[in-house]
Amino acid sequence: MKGKVIGDILVLKNEPNNLDELLKLPEVNRIVKLGRISGSKREPDVKILVGDNTETIHRENHCFFKLDVAKIMWSKGNTTERKRIAELVEDGEIIVDMFAGIGYFSIPIAVHSNPQKIYSIEINPISYCYLKENIVLNKVEGIINPLFGDCRKLAPKGIADRVLMGYIGNTHEYLDVAMEIVKPGGIIHYHESVPDKLKFERPPQRIIEAANGRDVEILNKRIIKKYSPGVYHVVIDALIE
Ligand code: SAM
Repeated sequence: MKGKVIGDILVLKNEPNNLDELLKLPEVNRIVKLGRISGSKREPDVKILVGDNTETIHRENHCFFKLDVAKIMWSKGNTTERKRIAELVEDGEIIVDMFAGIGYFSIPIAVHSNPQKIYSIEINPISYCYLKENIVLNKVEGIINPLFGDCRKLAPKGIADRVLMGYIGNTHEYLDVAMEIVKPGGIIHYHESVPDKLKFERPPQRIIEAANGRDVEILNKRIIKKYSPGVYHVVIDALIE
């Protein structure tokens, strides 16, 4: 059985023939099959097998994440990274989360660390609504400032001790913006999906190019998870002077 438990919902890729057995799993009250993503809106084909809706609250690392499993992604493979980032933050930091989603990184940082402010930018209206709900749910209204729209346009410039680029896709096209956001001596956490052979070479190269003459110190390179056959999701921590 291929699946994962998000909140109280077991999310499966295929329809099982042992629903009663699956309902005995700890914490599982509902079961949903999420099929292929298709159509111009790239929405998954959803079939609710047990229950009557697909919204839940997932708990991780003492944080609450409300989301609709049929509309919003939840990657178990990013759990360690969400925890690691929250532990790195020092007191009083200003953080810009360029691709905030429902608060995957912003919420754990606000709950477990003591930053001065986190600007959390999200372009998808559904994710943005959950981001705002999660800020309230986790009682971090005074710390996180949610911004709805494109980080290229909305991000405050020249002020960040730390910039989070937790997005896989054309992330490198936003490195120029990240360089404008980060202040001298600040850190960028840059995510990329990279073929195995290039995994620790291409991302640092792209950071150095985007820095355009500013000094760059690569502090850490780590694999987050396997993304697809022969391709890894990696994160690079880079100090920018
Ligand atoms: N790192 C996350 C985790 O721990 O599971 C997952 C990444 S999250 C899906 C990335 C988010 O970036 C999405 O919600 C997407 O809507 C948002 N996004 C993409 N382009 C954006 C842009 N230009 N400005 C702001 N947000 C953007």
